[in-house]
Amino acid sequence: WAKSAGKGRWALFDPDRNATEVAQFHLSAKMPAALEREEFYVDYQPLIGLRDFCVVGVEALVRWAHPELGRLGPDRFIGLAEETGLIVPLGRWVLRQACRQAKQWQDEFGSAAPFVSVNLAVRQSRDPKLVDDVAAILAETGLEPSRLQLELTESAIMGTADEPLDALRALSRMGVRIAIDDFGTGYSNLAYLRHLPVHELKIAGSFMEGLRDAERADPVDARIVGTLVDLAHALGLTVTAEGVETQAQARRMADIGCETGQGYLFARPGSPVDITAFIAEHLD
Ligand code: C2E
Ligand code: MG
Ligand code: MG
Ligand code: MG
Repeated sequence: WAKSAGKGRWALFDPDRNATEVAQFHLSAKMPAALEREEFYVDYQPLIGLRDFCVVGVEALVRWAHPELGRLGPDRFIGLAEETGLIVPLGRWVLRQACRQAKQWQDEFGSAAPFVSVNLAVRQSRDPKLVDDVAAILAETGLEPSRLQLELTESAIMGTADEPLDALRALSRMGVRIAIDDFGTGYSNLAYLRHLPVHELKIAGSFMEGLRDAERADPVDARIVGTLVDLAHALGLTVTAEGVETQAQARRMADIGCETGQGYLFARPGSPVDITAFIAEHLD
């Protein structure tokens, strides 16, 4: 009968939930100062060409080196930052870091340099200053616009008002690549996709589950993934498979024409130093 007492009251009597909320509140409150003190840092994970195993791109993934709690992954704080709005300055900071890093790769590796792929939260995609911010950061860092990709989830891109779409079109005209992240987990109006300024679909890692072993591949997962890749190609988009952990998954995705893969099989997210070494060993 606890539920019939109403959600709010139930929460009062749930010590675990209460503790979690207090902890979350503390994290939220500490984030602005943490951003000032540069407690956040960015790891990078390669996107690998499934035909030649060269590094095509690198995704920027933010982390928080919390002075008491140690290293926190984005799942601990991105949602909170979205709620408080801190995601806008935090996201801008990540974008600047990532563009600076990618500029170093541009200088070091020339035409073989990977693009950097940066996650954009829903709130950032609705921020009226987004296009100006991106343009300013590209100008300031000297990174070629074609070496920047922005990842948005389906919910950030679909069924939105016109303004965010106009922003994406403006970014696309600048030469910035747009990717849909975790594709297949949200709701997408597939017909609508063709009107969006999108260059790449990233197929969510959950679809890789059924392809883990070659002998025991799940036929439904295999067909869904094949259909998604065909759809992307029909729309002129490239495809990245996320969460590739086994050889069988990489092989299957290559067989159905998926261009790139990202996952622990190839490389875990790592520091700029480690990932720079990885790129140098896997140059186009
Ligand atoms: P995402 O954008 O889908 O990023 C991929 C996530 O999958 C990363 O988790 C990565 O470490 C993890 N991953 C990579 N390969 C594998 C694999 O083979 N197996 C498994 N099981 N996982 C793999 P991470 O770094 O914890 O990031 C989680 C999410 O946090 C990201 O998902 C993204 O949505 C969000 N995020 C990360 N950085 C940022 C950021 O700067 N801004 C925003 N708005 N969101 C971010
Ligand atoms: Mg992503
Ligand atoms: Mg993803
Ligand atoms: Mg995600």
